[in-house]
Amino acid sequence: MSNSDSGYQQTIVAIKDLLGSKGWRESGNAAAYYTDPRGRFTGRGNLVALPENTSEVSQVVSICHHNKTPVIPYSGGTGVVAGQLSLHSDEVLILSLERMDEVRHISAEDGTMLAEAGCILSNVHDAAAEQGMLFPLSMASKGSCRIGGNLATNAGGIQVLRYGNARDLCIGIEAVLPDGSILNELSPLRKNNTGYDLRHLLIGSEGTLGIITAACLNLKPANAETVTAFCAIQSPTQAVGLLQSIRSQIGESVSAIELMSSLGMELLQEHFPNINQPFEQKHEWYVLIEVAGQSGIRQNFESALFEAMEEDVVTDAVIAATETQRNALWDLRENMPEANRLSGAICNSDTSVPISQIDVFNQQTAEAVSSIHSGLRLNSYGHIGDGNIHHNVFPPLGISKSEFVKAHPEKIEAVRMAINEVTHQCSGAISAEHGIGRLKVGDMKQYADPVKMQVMRSIKQALDPNGIMNPGVILSA
Ligand SMILES: Cc1cc2nc3c(=O)[nH]c(=O)nc-3n(C[C@H](O)[C@H](O)[C@H](O)COP(=O)(O)OP(=O)(O)OC[C@H]3O[C@@H](n4cnc5c(N)ncnc54)[C@H](O)[C@@H]3O)c2cc1C
Repeated sequence: MSNSDSGYQQTIVAIKDLLGSKGWRESGNAAAYYTDPRGRFTGRGNLVALPENTSEVSQVVSICHHNKTPVIPYSGGTGVVAGQLSLHSDEVLILSLERMDEVRHISAEDGTMLAEAGCILSNVHDAAAEQGMLFPLSMASKGSCRIGGNLATNAGGIQVLRYGNARDLCIGIEAVLPDGSILNELSPLRKNNTGYDLRHLLIGSEGTLGIITAACLNLKPANAETVTAFCAIQSPTQAVGLLQSIRSQIGESVSAIELMSSLGMELLQEHFPNINQPFEQKHEWYVLIEVAGQSGIRQNFESALFEAMEEDVVTDAVIAATETQRNALWDLRENMPEANRLSGAICNSDTSVPISQIDVFNQQTAEAVSSIHSGLRLNSYGHIGDGNIHHNVFPPLGISKSEFVKAHPEKIEAVRMAINEVTHQCSGAISAEHGIGRLKVGDMKQYADPVKMQVMRSIKQALDPNGIMNPGVILSA
């Protein structure tokens, strides 16, 4: 008997019955769940389940466990390593958390928010702000990604420098494990040393160990004043110098420092001509730097920047005077991923190196990429304060992505592997913030510590002996 005659068909029938007509969609009505934000992959799958609460998630997963049906958790669909997409099989269940989007509770006293996994990140920001607090996890996809996906990928973004990754902003978790049981560790306790911390096992596990259904998020006090500057600099090393110099004067108030390149600014101008370019003159490199804190921080920041200019660390700078100007500076950074996509990047890397290695990393990456094909162009940008620079590689000027891919299909993978290799030589990580998904499983095998791989396989086997949770993600299926 084939799988379709047995378990999978039984799963479909049982889930439709359980969730009712609002609780599922068939493939003909589910195109949105198959798209990849960078257009590289197309997902598939016969059924999307849309449970409304944790109990329904638990029952759905129990059915899948019983029938050995693969489950692919799905939140906002903005993941860029194909973790939320079934690439080869229709006989899977895509389990979307989108209907579970309530903020269950906010406690100013505990400094926590109890949010369901389907809450969109920007809605979490708004809910925190309404209570005079801040949830600092933030990234360009904030209008679409959801807390469950953010935690499952241990997302990073623009304020890791000061506030940490998603992991550092989560105090408790509720999750449905692969057999359908519900793990309730949602307490807002700040100290809890009672055995293994399963929250941290689930965070960053990309849906391979269970489905995160809710989280107790760690809120921070809102900052009275936030000041953003855009600076022209001569090299990425100067960005690191600028960070050190500003930190030495105003402490831990720097909440973001984002590198941008001259090619990046050109691509933005081409695709987003309405976004204001801060300088008339072209510079090699730029950083967007933001500080936030008590009233009065602007003055300290301005004098720190002034000093950096006097010391030639910064060539030129603009400081936003209004919220509109501040948003306009962030528009430059936040539209960069889309500008890369529209310009036809053949590679978008997400690796990290120790801060001390950034210079070597950039130089060796540029050399390695041009040795693969002369004239390839690099837009290196991103979270330089965390050593997480995204290298986006473009065909030589005048050649489109499709022409290049057609003429040199083997070079796409060669570029990706070259960046991995330089990262590895610089003691870096082949995934900084996007995760492993289905895209980087081979890279993981190649570069991860073999003992770590063995322990991960043992954990997976212990929690998910049927291998139903997001098979093929992180570990090969
Ligand atoms: C324009 C753009 C900018 C981005 N910028 C950043 C950035 O700065 N930093 C960064 O870290 N990422 C960034 N990303 C990547 C992406 O937004 C993050 O990885 C985000 O955390 C994914 O959340 P999501 O809700 O979209 O998850 P999805 O894409 O739906 O899922 C991602 C992974 O998590 C699993 N998953 C989803 N929900 C759950 C759940 N409830 N329980 C268990 N597993 C689950 C999925 O199976 C999949 O493996 C960016 C993406 C885009 C398109």
